[in-house]
Amino acid sequence: ASSESKVALLCIDLLDFKTITDAMGAETGDNILQHAAERLKASVGTEDLVARYSSDEFAVLLRSVSLSVEVDKLALRLLQSLEEPISLADQILVLGGSIGISVAPDDATNSLELLRNANAALVRTKASGRGGYQFFDPAADVRLQALADLKLSLRDALARDEFHLVYQPVIDAVQGTVSSFEALIRWQHPERGLVSPADFIPLAEETGWIIAIGGWVLREACKQAATWPEGISVAVNFSAVQFEGRNMEAEIGSALKDSGLAPGRLVIELTETILLQDDDAKNKALRALRGLGVRIAMDDFGTGYSSLGYLRRFPFDTIKIDQSLVRGLPDGAGGDAIVYAVISLAHSLGISVTAEGVETPAQFELLRQQGASHVQGYLFSRPVQASEIPSLLTR
Ligand code: C2E
Ligand code: CA
Ligand code: CA
Ligand code: CA
Repeated sequence: ASSESKVALLCIDLLDFKTITDAMGAETGDNILQHAAERLKASVGTEDLVARYSSDEFAVLLRSVSLSVEVDKLALRLLQSLEEPISLADQILVLGGSIGISVAPDDATNSLELLRNANAALVRTKASGRGGYQFFDPAADVRLQALADLKLSLRDALARDEFHLVYQPVIDAVQGTVSSFEALIRWQHPERGLVSPADFIPLAEETGWIIAIGGWVLREACKQAATWPEGISVAVNFSAVQFEGRNMEAEIGSALKDSGLAPGRLVIELTETILLQDDDAKNKALRALRGLGVRIAMDDFGTGYSSLGYLRRFPFDTIKIDQSLVRGLPDGAGGDAIVYAVISLAHSLGISVTAEGVETPAQFELLRQQGASHVQGYLFSRPVQASEIPSLLTR
């Protein structure tokens, strides 16, 4: 039987431990941890191991299990033992726990892997709501681990100087000349190489780090643009998070002042998500920005929440028709009509239209005929390094 026997590691996190200690003090916290440890020990065999490995997390190592049902049963028993009320002085407390489980040799070949996997499963248990237990699941957890690793390295990326900007020209559809560049962030990860903003911007938004990163982008783009010929503007992408409860007018004003860039040469690109809540506050913030003299573009128009109504309510200078709409052109049917309707409404409101993701001469021809004033896409140029801009402008 010993040849079939397995080892299981259970990582256990106490529910609400921090809330309890915040309310009842550190001494009660120690008391609770002691109770919890005793109960866990009483629920496992003498050959098994119970250890505390962070403030309110325990690890239980089952030295010999033959079937996963055994582990299931034990996990339930551990949870029940934690849930038995504890009486402390004049209070009665009911604890709970979340458990993540990894089994060797099924999931892991060494103890480090076992711990990492059990922890990943624990993260998933905690994310799924209140308590319970889950086994390591490579499909779900490896993705979570990769994401957690990425997040860890993103935290220091700015300090380690791993970001840079590339610039994609925006072309005047009638003149055929470059009128501005859109700044696009790039992350050169020390091990992974280039990481797409589509992968790390959502993480940066979720953690709030986008505020520091976005501030860096703004300053860097303004500094760069100030070295370009006067007629050339720069467009900078902003996340809605950067506007939440923050004074963007001051931040943008100071970036302009420090770089010496004329306000009229800065375009702020925003997506519709920024308009989803508190219309009034956002409307005010956008108007304040225009008061500085900067221009505002609505990015990704035609995706998700797009509504032509936004165009009437908010003071946009430009809308950027999303590449998903452009991709289907010309289709000789509905798609063309939507693009045409957007362009004519924008014109009637005095808003200019840039079409994004233009890849073919046929798309360009149609967009120009329908009145798009600017175009951007691989047909004209991919994003380029700052050092390539002078030669691009003299071409
Ligand atoms: P976006 O603002 O819509 O930027 C346009 C994206 O389309 C860029 O991808 C650009 O490289 C790509 N693109 C340009 N022309 C073509 C084309 O002809 N065909 C195709 N298939 N793609 C084209 P990128 O640089 O990977 O950026 C992706 C998104 O990440 C951006 O979408 C933007 O939402 C976000 N992002 C990039 N830089 C920043 C930044 O500094 N701050 C914030 N908040 N978001 C950023
Ligand atoms: Ca906890
Ligand atoms: Ca953009
Ligand atoms: Ca876009």
